Amino acid sequence: MIKRSFFGLAKPRFEYESAVGMPVKPEKISVPKKVTLFFKETCTCPSALIKCGDKVRTGQKLSLYEGSENYVISSVTGTVSALYPYTGDFGKSYTAISIDTADQEETDNTFGEAAKSVSLDTAKNFLACVPGISCACAFSDPAGTVKTVVVCGIDKDLLISTNPYIVSNCPEDVRSGVGILKKIFAADQAVVVSGKDLMKDISVIGSASGVEMRLVGSEYPAAFPQEIMRNLFEVSLPAGKSCKDMGFCFLSAEAAASVGRAFGSGQIPVTKILTLIKKDLTKVIVEARIGTPIGDIFKACEVITEDRDRIIIGGPLTGYAVYSEDYPVQPDTDAIMVQGSEAVSSVSDYPCINCGECVRICPAKVPVNMLVRLCENAQYEAAAAEYDLHSCIECGLCSVVCVARMPVFQYIRLAKYELARIAEKEAEKEKEEADV
Ligand code: SF4
Ligand code: SF4
Repeated sequence: MIKRSFFGLAKPRFEYESAVGMPVKPEKISVPKKVTLFFKETCTCPSALIKCGDKVRTGQKLSLYEGSENYVISSVTGTVSALYPYTGDFGKSYTAISIDTADQEETDNTFGEAAKSVSLDTAKNFLACVPGISCACAFSDPAGTVKTVVVCGIDKDLLISTNPYIVSNCPEDVRSGVGILKKIFAADQAVVVSGKDLMKDISVIGSASGVEMRLVGSEYPAAFPQEIMRNLFEVSLPAGKSCKDMGFCFLSAEAAASVGRAFGSGQIPVTKILTLIKKDLTKVIVEARIGTPIGDIFKACEVITEDRDRIIIGGPLTGYAVYSEDYPVQPDTDAIMVQGSEAVSSVSDYPCINCGECVRICPAKVPVNMLVRLCENAQYEAAAAEYDLHSCIECGLCSVVCVARMPVFQYIRLAKYELARIAEKEAEKEKEEADV
């Protein structure tokens, strides 16, 4: 919801929606005929461990190479039908694996044995792609720096009800997951944060020993990790540092529930909860296997897309557009939003008119008007050195308010991605030189 002040000079407010009135039951999507999963690495086929025709079971861990830290968990039982390169957002390279689903489901039991040892290594080796996990390194903490585990029962972007739904409907799983996370990170503190509407539900979770509950504000972007650290823990994140560098590990309520369920049952969860936001902004909570084509969800929920409509993975401020209904549900797909062509806001190549709206609204106090000039001209290093690129928390508000309709946020994300890629290449080169 957007609130504008009667007095024109005040900045607009964007508020998270209330969890009251949220759907109670999810729309369950049938197991699809085919699922597609993404490895975050490229495949040079002759040396790959997986081949077309291989049989896989539900919950089976699949790696492309011997010793690779990257893996996916098969969300169905079936036969590998394709293995191919896939180019994602910003030209990122992945390897996609398609699995044709068999009639009879068989569950892989390898994790069942491993789950007897509740440890960070077990989580890292088996649970890095459970529903709700957005980063493969969620369970990495080699230096043992994590002192506080924060579980978020509120989604970062607007209009999404996935994590409030989990808190409200699976509090026992979240409670068990938070306790396990605190233990495996050997953290001093475990905190569950949510909006005030879910106070009653988080009380159930908070009854686990040593778990605190905190409320976040309703104004966007209060649910971002950097804002939670600043507002609830009075810790500012220095530019270029991660939350883990400062001793904080943030995970969603769904990720915590998945961890709780996995260790409780000895089986890796493979079903994702997500919010489908339709063209008329009505919402459906959906339950689908990871890897399900989004077209199957549209069919089950009677969403019809037409030419020039836009499909957004994620929320309206920070999501990204996809161009095919074959795109699969990922472990971190918290929302799918469908915008009718008339609601799609256009971007332009007009220059910045220096109105200052983006600077006024930026929660990280970045001089966005100056930053965008360097980013749009690919001056990424200067943008980081001179105009605080790495302080941006990626909330997307600058793009929303830009009167020139510049894709400000997209320029910033591209700049960060390019700098990360350059740093990675330099680190690889240094390593190669050191090995010679
Ligand atoms: S996305 Fe824009 S408004 Fe948000 S923190 Fe970054 S620069 Fe500021
Ligand atoms: S809101 Fe847009 S036009 Fe205004 S200063 Fe920022 S980038 Fe420039």
